Amino acid sequence: MTGAFTYRGSAAHIVFGAGKRGETGAWIDQLGCSNALVLSTPNQEADATRLSEQLGNLSAGVFAKATMHTPIDVTNEAMEAVKSVGADCVVSLGGGSTTGLGKAIAYRTDLPQVVIPTTYAGSEVTPILGQTEGGRKTTVRGDSILPEVVIYDPELTMGLPLGMSLTSGLNAMAHAAEALYAQDRNPVSSLMAAEGLAAFKRSLPALVADSSDAEARADALYGAWLCGTVLGTVGMALHHKICHTLGGSFDTPHAETHAIMLPHTVGFNASAMPTELQPIADLFGATPGAGLFDFSKEIGAPQALKDLGLTEADLDRASEIATENPYWNPRPIDRVSIRQLLQDAWEGSRPAL
Ligand code: NAD
Repeated sequence: MTGAFTYRGSAAHIVFGAGKRGETGAWIDQLGCSNALVLSTPNQEADATRLSEQLGNLSAGVFAKATMHTPIDVTNEAMEAVKSVGADCVVSLGGGSTTGLGKAIAYRTDLPQVVIPTTYAGSEVTPILGQTEGGRKTTVRGDSILPEVVIYDPELTMGLPLGMSLTSGLNAMAHAAEALYAQDRNPVSSLMAAEGLAAFKRSLPALVADSSDAEARADALYGAWLCGTVLGTVGMALHHKICHTLGGSFDTPHAETHAIMLPHTVGFNASAMPTELQPIADLFGATPGAGLFDFSKEIGAPQALKDLGLTEADLDRASEIATENPYWNPRPIDRVSIRQLLQDAWEGSRPAL
């Protein structure tokens, strides 16, 4: 039986398809803008410069200093660039780090954003901005943060190294897994989550076989859109809390941490939400946590926190921080059970549920 729910659709324009980055100029124009600052990380500066050249008069230049976790000092420098060139919008070409910088600028100026994602992180379709100052990460939400236009062009993900494709894909799948049991889930978010998981179930093994398989690249990016969208529309729980704790306090890499934790957090919550997590068991076989563990092993993704440089002593502190502030989770949490969950993830053992 369908129960009560609240649903809010996103106001963003989503453009999907190979070669669609060629429409960037038309979208800048449609937004009523004519002077776009193109953003990227130092790694992707050459791609950003190429895009800027293609935009011609519509480009105000390139700012290529985007950095993981959106440090405020980089944002301040980017704000100077926005002012000095008189930019009237930003174009973010890259993964979650570049999208984060574009959002930080939009949060401060309300400038429109066009995002061209090149990973599967999903930030481009959420109204959420995480920023860091003095090593502390804070998160804000707001309508001005949600990008106006997202151009998903699978051709730009062809160069995403296989290892990053796998961890980034599992990062996206974690948004969908938690959306399935979210407190504020609705029929549309659950449909999108299950479809997003199915897209990655098809595409990640295909990318292992051939990382330049264009069809698999398109399928994975389609999954990223679905998984990112549910991240932006329903609340997350234990999994995201633990990953933020590990990333924020122990500087573990973002996508790898999500990839390793996913089977364990899903396994932990499986007994509390068996019906909601059934789509995962249907897709991956076994029980939800064990099925995801087997899938991640099969594709060769990282499986143990100890391989990220964490020590067992770090797990004591991490379980303390992760249980410090009460937050909603389908299964009640306490320090002892979270410490055990982290131990299992540290060792890389197969979850029972
Ligand atoms: P990233 O953006 O940091 O990218 C990692 C590296 O890969 C960078 O050097 C980047 O330039 C490079 N890269 C990206 N795409 C590439 C491609 N196609 N080919 C070659 N190299 C490529 O990594 P990410 O995992 O996409 O983003 C992580 C960040 O995003 C974190 O700071 C995380 O907190 C944030 N995030 C935010 C949200 C949100 O809703 N606010 C959601 C997800 C992630």
